Amino acid sequence: MGERGEPRSLGLVDGGLEAFAVGDETHLVAALDPAWPPEVAAAFDRWRQAGLRGRCDCGTAGWRDVAPAPWPAAVDGVPVLEAVLNHAPGCPAGEQAVAEVFARHGLKVP
Ligand SMILES: [Zn+2]
Repeated sequence: MGERGEPRSLGLVDGGLEAFAVGDETHLVAALDPAWPPEVAAAFDRWRQAGLRGRCDCGTAGWRDVAPAPWPAAVDGVPVLEAVLNHAPGCPAGEQAVAEVFARHGLKVP
């Protein structure tokens, strides 16, 4: 997968997920929790948006396949894909940086 268009939210899905249309694909990502502190929500949304867009300011190193998650196979008849973006070490949108923000607030990454 290469660079894709702007993600457009399709709304919340059962199970704490949010669906996004990206080009002709539908992506599911964990929804933002309204109970999160702003710093946590911002960190998680950085990670989400980079993944949905397929690019990041860190000059991302591409995609990493993820074992099929317990997502639904389709939303409104559109097949659901899952992919995770690799980030450069130290990227604030990377999984490690995001996990550190969650940990600072005593929260778990969804
Ligand atoms: Zn990055």
